[in-house]
Amino acid sequence: MPHGDTGWSPFRVPLVPVPRGPGACSLGPIIVHEDLDRVLFSESEIRAGIDRVAAQVTALYRGSDFTVVSVLKGSCIFCADLIRRIPIPLQLAFVAASSYGHGTTSGRLEVNYLPTGGEIEGRRLLLVDDILDSGQTMHRLKQELLERGARDVHTCVFLDKPARRAIEFEADFCVLHVPDLFVVGYGLDYAGMYRNLPIVGVLKPEIYARGAKAAAPEGTTPSP
Ligand code: 5GP
Ligand code: MG
Repeated sequence: MPHGDTGWSPFRVPLVPVPRGPGACSLGPIIVHEDLDRVLFSESEIRAGIDRVAAQVTALYRGSDFTVVSVLKGSCIFCADLIRRIPIPLQLAFVAASSYGHGTTSGRLEVNYLPTGGEIEGRRLLLVDDILDSGQTMHRLKQELLERGARDVHTCVFLDKPARRAIEFEADFCVLHVPDLFVVGYGLDYAGMYRNLPIVGVLKPEIYARGAKAAAPEGTTPSP
């Protein structure tokens, strides 16, 4: 049964199939959520970018042990796709950080979970996040991992939003650049939702306006 015909949707509005076009998913009709205003990156653009970065990461770590450290929750989709395109041995670990911002802006960062000492000490780490915005999250997490004894820490982001950088920080690897817009999909949420969209897009303005009035379900405002 095609997506959207099951009658079940985690969203308040139905998922709508849109016609296939250039860059469309090869698995069937693309499903685009009705709350989206526009799509910034299609599945095939995302796939091509990840293939490029996976090759760069493979070249860096070929012949040496390393651990991919995924920043929860936003990078889980990206990280899952990235590591499956890296054909050399690696280990996987997770960190969790929340930024208590307001609406669609970054705020105070709290590190909620770190890998065990044994997973960090003396290890080469590739820290992977969904998006580099102000730069605070990646900067802080990289410092934290180095202070806990990592041998070296490289950084990899799915998206880079350079217009919003508040500190001097650049990722070693980046899949795609985005303009100064609050984006959702492919792991990135708004009020805890939309992470499962297979594309990256921007929500309709009324959704952001509605969300700003409602309480966020995850106990914080949408992570920025
Ligand atoms: P930074 O610490 O670089 O300001 O923010 C990084 C975090 O902010 C990301 O891990 C992500 O959770 C959140 N963030 C920044 N920009 C966006 C965006 O456009 N969309 C979403 N959904 N999250 C964002
Ligand atoms: Mg995040």
